Amino acid sequence: MERIIAETQVCIVGGGVMGLATAWQLAARGLDVVIVEKAIPGLQASAANAGTLAIQNKHTRSIPLVQRAIAMWRTLSDQTGVDIGYEKRGGFRLAHSVDDLEKLERAVGIQRTLGVAAEMVYQPQLAREAPYLAPTVVAASYCPDDGMANPLASSRALLVAARREGARLLHHCPVSAIESGADDRFLVQTPRGVIRCAQVISAAGAWNVDVARMVGVELPLTTDVLQVMTTDAAPPLFPHIVTHVRGNLTVKQASATGKILIGGGWRGEGDPVTGIKRVCRETLIANLKWATQCVPGIAKSRLLRAWAGFEGRTPDKLLLSGSVDVPRGFHLLGCGGGGYTLAPFAGAIAAARVCGETIDLPLDAFNVKRFIPARTTTAS
Ligand SMILES: Cc1cc2nc3c(=O)[nH]c(=O)nc-3n(C[C@H](O)[C@H](O)[C@H](O)COP(=O)(O)OP(=O)(O)OC[C@H]3O[C@@H](n4cnc5c(N)ncnc54)[C@H](O)[C@@H]3O)c2cc1C
Repeated sequence: MERIIAETQVCIVGGGVMGLATAWQLAARGLDVVIVEKAIPGLQASAANAGTLAIQNKHTRSIPLVQRAIAMWRTLSDQTGVDIGYEKRGGFRLAHSVDDLEKLERAVGIQRTLGVAAEMVYQPQLAREAPYLAPTVVAASYCPDDGMANPLASSRALLVAARREGARLLHHCPVSAIESGADDRFLVQTPRGVIRCAQVISAAGAWNVDVARMVGVELPLTTDVLQVMTTDAAPPLFPHIVTHVRGNLTVKQASATGKILIGGGWRGEGDPVTGIKRVCRETLIANLKWATQCVPGIAKSRLLRAWAGFEGRTPDKLLLSGSVDVPRGFHLLGCGGGGYTLAPFAGAIAAARVCGETIDLPLDAFNVKRFIPARTTTAS
C-alpha cells in the first residue's frame, strides 16, 4: 500500500494560471484543494507569455469569456494584495492590406454586437492618434479595454490568494498516474506518495493530453512552442497595446522599465516530453522585422533577450473545460488561445462546474465533450 500524502476534495494537476485561478475560486467556496505541480508554480506558459490582456485579438466565440476575465483582472491586485502590474492601455489592431481591412471591419462589427467598445480608425486620423505607427498601416481598430499585466506577478498573486483561502500546494511533485477507485475516489500518484481525492482537475497546460491519457481519455490536443522577446530599456515610444489583424504581432512598452515586449505567436522549437525549448533564429528575426515595419521606432532599441514556452492547443483554438463522464469527477481546463487573458474567468467556470453552480453564459463551445464520443461525457 502506497503512502497517502494528502486527502482532499479536489486535486488540481498543474500550478499555472489556470490551476491557480481555479484553486483560489474553489478554496474561497470552502472546498479542500490540493494543487500538485511538477516543478515550480507559474513557470511554464504562465511565465513565458507576453502579458497581453487584449479583447479585440481574441477568437470571436471567446469574447464573452474574455470580457468577464478582463473585469476580474482589473480588481486582481486589490483582491489578492499583490500588485500584478495591470494597466488598461487601450489597443490598436492594425491592417495593412485590403484583405486585412475587410477582416478588421468585419471583426469590429461582430465585436460591437457583443458589447466590445471597438471602433475603426482610418488614416489620416490614425496618424494623429498613434503617430508612432508606420504610414503603411492603412487603418486600425481601437479598443480602450485592451491592457497588460505582469505574468510572474499574476501567478504569484493567484497562489497567494489560493493559499490564503486554505489551498495546499505540493511543488516539485509530478503526477505520474491517476487511478479511479471503486469508492468514487481518485488515487493521484506522485513520487512522494498518493493523493486521495473525490475530483481531479487537469490544468496541466501543454501536458493536459498526458494527464487525460492517465484516465483513459484521448484528446486531439497539440503543442506549439511560442516565443517572446524584450528590448532593453528605451525612452517612451508608444503607450498602447499594438496587435495585428493577421494575428502575428503583439507589441507593448512597459511603463515602469521602458522595455518593449514583442511577440505574436511566432514559433520556437522544443519538445514538451523532454521540456527542452529554444528560440528559433529565423522566426525571431522575422517577428522583429514585422514589429519594426509596424512601429518603426522599435528599430532604435536593443534586443535584450528572447525566450520560448509550450502552449497546449485545441484543434478549434477554443478553451478546453468541463468534465468527462468516465471516470466521473475528472475535469479538464486550458489549451485555449489567449489562455493568460482567460485564466481568471476560466478558473471561475471550472470551480462553478465542480460545485454544480450554473454560469450565465453559453459554454457548450468550450466543453471537452466536443472532442469525446457522446457516451463518455456529461452535459455542460
Ligand atoms: C510565449 C507565449 C506567449 C504567450 N502570450 C500570451 C499573451 O500575451 N496573452 C495571453 O492571453 N496568452 C498568452 N499565451 C498563452 C498563455 O500563456 C497560456 O495559455 C496560459 O499561461 C496557460 O496556462 P496554464 O495554467 O493552462 O498552463 P501552464 O502555465 O503551462 O501551466 C501548466 C502547469 O502544469 C504543470 N504540469 C504539467 N504536467 C504535470 C504533471 N504531470 N504533474 C504536475 N504538474 C504538471 C506544469 O509544470 C505547469 O506549471 C502565451 C503563451 C506562450 C507560450
